[in-house]
Amino acid sequence: MTVQDVCNSMETWAPLSWQESYDNAGLLCGSRSQQVSGVLISLDCTEEVVQEAIEKGCNLIVAHHPIVFKGLKSLTGKDYVERTMILAIKNDVAIYASHTNLDHAPQGVSYQLAKKLGLQHGRVLRPFKQALKSLTYFVPVDASERTRTALHAAGAGNIGKYTDCSFSQEGKGRFTPNEAANPTIGFSKQPEVVKEEQIQLIYPAHLESKVLSALKASHPYEEVAYFVNKLDNTWDEVGSGYVADLAKPMDELSFTKYLKEQLGLTHFRHTAWLGRPIHRIALCGGAGSFLLSDAIKAGADVFISGDFKYHEFFDAENHCTICDIGHYESEVMIKDAIHTYLSNNFSTFAVLKSMTNSNPVSYA
Ligand SMILES: [Zn+2]
Repeated sequence: MTVQDVCNSMETWAPLSWQESYDNAGLLCGSRSQQVSGVLISLDCTEEVVQEAIEKGCNLIVAHHPIVFKGLKSLTGKDYVERTMILAIKNDVAIYASHTNLDHAPQGVSYQLAKKLGLQHGRVLRPFKQALKSLTYFVPVDASERTRTALHAAGAGNIGKYTDCSFSQEGKGRFTPNEAANPTIGFSKQPEVVKEEQIQLIYPAHLESKVLSALKASHPYEEVAYFVNKLDNTWDEVGSGYVADLAKPMDELSFTKYLKEQLGLTHFRHTAWLGRPIHRIALCGGAGSFLLSDAIKAGADVFISGDFKYHEFFDAENHCTICDIGHYESEVMIKDAIHTYLSNNFSTFAVLKSMTNSNPVSYA
């Protein structure tokens, strides 16, 4: 198995096109064709983590945060980012980051936080828009089944809990092949009428080239008549944050204890408790203050995230209680999820969780 195989697997879960525009997820260093001797999973990739990978015989690190975030104009080891990269490159350790794309992916970072808290009946807090497209194409009736099967295999036709979804209607297709054409049906310069099906289905935008290749490969015609459309539909399984319910409402003191116990927190920052039972919880791993209004709209009693600034705490007003549990603490559980995912997909090399505590924040 190569580094590229692991990249492909991670991108099946969290496609790179789902990352924010400011982000730098993907393979940051290393050769894609290198055979993988072992994978080390970490939240951050630091010099200590690269050293750990070398000691454990892992030549690929899969991290959540990209160690390289801005352009590097030199590589001299003047700061921890450059020293980490130099150490990795010198030792043939590849570094891959799955960051905001994994925040947005189904069962991504915020979902894992909800899972750790045993929440139920959850949904994505701010689903993606414009990540789905529709395909309409025309095919002779006797070849329609073949094209539909190929398109479903390429990832088209999934709507929520339903697979193999499409709509079709029969009609007449008309065309005249020119002298250069080699038509499957009909002859050059002779107008043709064929009983065709018009088929429509939905597909994830990031799978477009795969979907169109499947259409062309399975379609009998030399020239395939099709069109694609952008959609404004939300994609409920993909997006930012998560909102879900505690199995049973808790009073505020019980909830405080529960949150600390489940996540191993010594303390956390929060706004005023509102004197009401805690039932609905909105969550966003990492810096999630941008989702506060979504959390309030979703009727959350509590919004759990990290990196709230002083003035942002005021925005909770009396709508919900903000619990800022720390950036690291709200995301570290993604290591377990990546570990489970890669262990299930690869059996020819070791997949290990880093033992390094990369949290740069300490509490006195
Ligand atoms: Zn983060």
